[in-house]
Amino acid sequence: MKFNTKAIHAGQHPEETSGAVMPPIFQTSTYQQKAPNQHQGYDYARVGNPTRTALEKMVAGLEGADEAASFASGVAAMDALMKMLRPGDHVVTTNDLYGGSYRLFTQVFEPYGIEFSFVDMTDLSLVKEAIRPETRMMWIETPTNPLLRIVDIRELTDLARENDVLTVVDNTFASPYLQRPLEHGADAVLHSATKYLGGHSDVIHGVVASSNKEIMENLRFQVKSTGAVPGPMDCYLVLRGIKTLAVRVQRSVDNAKKIAELLKDHPKVGSVNYPGLASHPQHEIAKKQMDDFGAMVSFSLKDDSIEAAVKFMQNTKYFTLAESLGGVESLISHPASMTHGSIPKEVREKAGLKDSLIRISVGIEDADDLIEDLTQAF
Ligand SMILES: *Cc1c(COP(=O)(O)O)cnc(C)c1O
Repeated sequence: MKFNTKAIHAGQHPEETSGAVMPPIFQTSTYQQKAPNQHQGYDYARVGNPTRTALEKMVAGLEGADEAASFASGVAAMDALMKMLRPGDHVVTTNDLYGGSYRLFTQVFEPYGIEFSFVDMTDLSLVKEAIRPETRMMWIETPTNPLLRIVDIRELTDLARENDVLTVVDNTFASPYLQRPLEHGADAVLHSATKYLGGHSDVIHGVVASSNKEIMENLRFQVKSTGAVPGPMDCYLVLRGIKTLAVRVQRSVDNAKKIAELLKDHPKVGSVNYPGLASHPQHEIAKKQMDDFGAMVSFSLKDDSIEAAVKFMQNTKYFTLAESLGGVESLISHPASMTHGSIPKEVREKAGLKDSLIRISVGIEDADDLIEDLTQAF
């Protein structure tokens, strides 16, 4: 089955008792048992729910995984994955990553004795240097947030395998339509489904897909034991969103390419980060591991002050100033004070994230209107 067909059919079948084509929202907390522990696969809704199962089968299909487990949010999914680790274990991750991931690692898990190294993962030698005997996990994010660097997934998963290290890729920025990390050797792939999978900025949700038994057993155990589970309505919304993933993301990418070209040549723009530009330092790696270049763009103005950046963001009319990304509507944000505000300024600057950086999530509006909007905002 090709991807566009999978996005409609993967793991889906009409509901058995009614023939409903869309999976019903099974709004129940518990299930009848014929005799103690004799049931039809579901006993209590913290552990499982058929609407959730339908979504998990879909995401597993899209990512080419045996299974998926879904959670109440992207960070809840990350939290469940990290709980595979034990005090003394070490994680190598990127120095340019989602601010909430940085906060979870440094403020929740470091106090429990798990150690993290944040390195520039576009440089293999730095990743090699960071690996220690206690390293158990490599946490990759690509394209990175907000600098849109591209990390070579295959190169890192090969290195991880040699060192008996598990690899997780946060695939939120690309979506499975553009990038399927398990095909490049990753052990697990994570999504904030709040973003492209849901696609309409109306739900918070997270999901992990993997064919690794140890990882999936841990996740099922975490679902049952710590319970950060999504409600059936949320699962329904994400599943509904996924049905149009391919067309939405393609349109957003087409728009983003035009916008990146506009920004590249604009006299008021200092620098542009977009993996689809031939001048992007990892353009060739993006070509190798992604089917297209994504719909996230970040840039800074020639006037490198925070004031100029903030003024620009307030001048746009179709780009709404808001956190998040991956919805049908275009958004604009200021990473240093918004999504990445929880990262200390000196750590941000060391990683190359300046206070003047502007990030846009390109939606599916008409490209001409978006270009006109940005042009008038300068
Ligand atoms: C938003 C985001 C998350 C966190 O997901 P939530 O659904 O907001 O909890 C994790 N990783 C990336 C790359 C994100 O953009």
